[in-house]
Amino acid sequence: TVLGVDVGLTHLAIDSEGNKRANPRFLKRAQSNLRRKQKALSRCQKGSKGRAKARLKLAKVHERLANARADFQHNLSRQLIDENQAVVVETLKVKNLLKNRKLSKHIADASWFSLIQKLDYKAKAQGKHLVKIDQWFASSKTCSCCGHKVDALPLSVRNWSCPSCTAELDRDINAAINIRQQGVIKLRAEGLSVPANGGLRKPGHVPAAA
Ligand SMILES: [Zn+2]
Repeated sequence: TVLGVDVGLTHLAIDSEGNKRANPRFLKRAQSNLRRKQKALSRCQKGSKGRAKARLKLAKVHERLANARADFQHNLSRQLIDENQAVVVETLKVKNLLKNRKLSKHIADASWFSLIQKLDYKAKAQGKHLVKIDQWFASSKTCSCCGHKVDALPLSVRNWSCPSCTAELDRDINAAINIRQQGVIKLRAEGLSVPANGGLRKPGHVPAAA
């Protein structure tokens, strides 16, 4: 199967099957602990033994934070690659979101880039495909049922209600389905045969006659 994945902040990953995975917000959870340890460090005199200890304690919190995030991403990427033949992600959207300063802290916490990296090498290791959509395309503003496009859809609007075919869909799932369809186009352009039902075959493989 081919899975489209949309990334977000409330949910880290929303896929074209309708699954939403919560963003664990590791940084947010560790923040008060980090602040406490940082304060303790700044209270210690420079060059003192206490300062060296305080610095070590702070470093350990940072390390645990990084480990928790990496663990989570390893599990999520493994699951996505294990369960699918191809995973499609929109990397241009990630790049654009990273430019948003107001969201930068949350975005750093979501660390989509390292998630995409993990997806990439796990896909390669299993002979599967990670398709990166790096060209602008209106994944959120296009109807995944009929292809109707709207000019604007404010972020506050969480539902896609199609003015053309009256489809009613969760905004992010609609985007994920569009991302999936865009990925299927790319896979076909690379010579892979992707049946409409989403299975994936290597070129040259002829299905047995019924
Ligand atoms: Zn529609």
